[in-house]
Amino acid sequence: MCLQSCLILWCLRVVLQSHTDPKKRPGESPGAGSSCLQMGALRSMIAHSMAAPDVLVEIRNVTKIYQQGEINVTALNDISFDIQAGEYLSLMGPSGSGKSTLLHIIAGIDRPTSGECRVRGVDVTRLNESALADWRNQNVGFVFQTFNLIPVLSAFENVELPLLLTDLSRKQRRQHVETALDLVGLADRAHHLPRQLSGGQEQRVAIARAIVTDPGLVVADEPTGNLDAQSAHEVLEVLRSLRTDAQKTIIMVTHDPKAAAFGSRSIHLEKGELLEARGAGV
Ligand code: ADP
Ligand code: MG
Repeated sequence: MCLQSCLILWCLRVVLQSHTDPKKRPGESPGAGSSCLQMGALRSMIAHSMAAPDVLVEIRNVTKIYQQGEINVTALNDISFDIQAGEYLSLMGPSGSGKSTLLHIIAGIDRPTSGECRVRGVDVTRLNESALADWRNQNVGFVFQTFNLIPVLSAFENVELPLLLTDLSRKQRRQHVETALDLVGLADRAHHLPRQLSGGQEQRVAIARAIVTDPGLVVADEPTGNLDAQSAHEVLEVLRSLRTDAQKTIIMVTHDPKAAAFGSRSIHLEKGELLEARGAGV
């Protein structure tokens, strides 16, 4: 394998592994590093159908119990609800209430102890490791609180990363990266390094990277947690535009009510239980 391929694989591993919980013990999660990225191209962002709202995610009786030595921690306790295609769902609740755990289960990063999570009818909790990695790479884009950009790569190169192991030509990759950067309003920052960008711009590059393979579902865990108010506002506007202009379904974890208000609906977790649901959905 040539040096360039090794570097690319290493970069992908860094990016994908970084979304696993540092508290997670070996064997707890499906192992994001084994991912091979989506082989499909970035289809036109506006090509999705305008069909009537339909259920995208069905969560049924999901319970997650972590074992810490002799102690069991119930992170989620018998959660059931649906997410409609095209929603921008804000997942709220105090620290430790199970938000990230729920997001990880929906995104196929983690598995519940019991219960089902069907996405477009596929019960992701029953997929084996390899099928789950493929499913994840084709269907989910991830946005992290800490951006997780590769510091030595330009914005363009960071966004291009998920496409490097596909069969797309260089020209096609360039088109997709330019489209994604354009969607987040950073076409003119393509050749900047992360350190030459503001925090808000870094997060928008990370969003471009999340959507460059055109996943239907974008999950974001506290995407504005490290940002000032103005930058947070810009990032939230970008996420909202992905819903309205590109028909993405967005699930965003936040503890900030102002951030949650950008969503079309919010649900609240407390001590692993669903408290209430607000908003009209799609
Ligand atoms: P939130 O995102 O709302 O802050 P989390 O989903 O991260 O909450 O965590 C919910 C609960 O599960 C917390 O009590 C947390 O300590 C526990 N927890 C999360 N991940 C692990 C893990 N890998 N091992 C043990 N306990 C965990
Ligand atoms: Mg969390």
